[in-house]
Amino acid sequence: MGKDTKIEWCDSTVNGTSGCDGCELWNAQARTCYAGQLQTNRLSKSLPRLYSSDFSQVQMIPGRYAQAASWSDLRGTERPEKPWLNGKPRTIFVGDLGDTFSRAVTDEFLTRELLGAITSKQGKRHFWMLLTKRPKRLAELAKKWGGLPDNVMAMTTVTDQQSADKRVAELLQVPCHWRGLSCEPLLGPVELRTVNDARGNHALSLKNPSANKIHWVICGGESGKDARPMHPDWARSLRDQCKTAKVPFLFKQWGEWSEVDPEARTEDGQHVSIIADSQKGKSLFRPLTDCLVSADGRTWSRESLPSDLSGRLMRRAHKAISGRLLDGIEHNGYPLTEGRDA
Ligand code: SF4
Repeated sequence: MGKDTKIEWCDSTVNGTSGCDGCELWNAQARTCYAGQLQTNRLSKSLPRLYSSDFSQVQMIPGRYAQAASWSDLRGTERPEKPWLNGKPRTIFVGDLGDTFSRAVTDEFLTRELLGAITSKQGKRHFWMLLTKRPKRLAELAKKWGGLPDNVMAMTTVTDQQSADKRVAELLQVPCHWRGLSCEPLLGPVELRTVNDARGNHALSLKNPSANKIHWVICGGESGKDARPMHPDWARSLRDQCKTAKVPFLFKQWGEWSEVDPEARTEDGQHVSIIADSQKGKSLFRPLTDCLVSADGRTWSRESLPSDLSGRLMRRAHKAISGRLLDGIEHNGYPLTEGRDA
């Protein structure tokens, strides 16, 4: 819960629940979820009553959403660190430390606490972003509510094409004015133009921007000690799809890994792949910090590298050093958040 947050795409975060049912980033094989790591390593020790040492134990925390609703109105307030939020209402990311729509969180709690706060006199001053890996449940609940209020964006996380095909199709079922995607950590290529809902509506329309069913895309690479590199072309592809469809695109971060020599181009403007055993490959590759990532996301260290493999050379550094420039540009696309017809 944070009235102020460093997360680039919002002003504040709120968690009316703790714990999570898990996903591809937190299960028997994977333990890379930031929230899971934070809760098990720190929050369960400092606040054991609210945060279990077992991240799969989900708890509801009454009063949190109402507290967020009472925060000050930020309309007309400058945000020097995040100028793309200037002119917006306070943007509140719901659920950065767990999944709000986990099974143990009851419909009754979500209706009373979450919907109650959003639709309260104070809550209506803000813009609420509900990010979940369970958009199917959000869709069922939103239908019971008669649709989401227009100061709410329904959002889901996409990490690769498989998760996009499933979750975006489910997100399209949510009756709402606004839908967004957090493509972070991006672990594979994603083609949004092929994703449809059951009625054949495309997530992104190439011909008619007003027919887009997705209104915002955030993209970022993985951070943390076990972070995997994001192939630069996956991020470029999402950027270009959004540009064509006229959908705001925010490049949040490279994460732990960023591209070495991103400006290198062929004569026809294509980004250059590094051939592992080329002179350039040998001169650029730093064995202690670098890996080569191939188009399918496999990574190779200097020792394991097949000699004729080509790919993008990635360097490991802290995410603050990797930064958030994609081909030299900060992408801070942001939706209007107000005044859009359903
Ligand atoms: S759904 Fe979100 S909070 Fe839950 S384990 Fe996955 S990444 Fe973490």
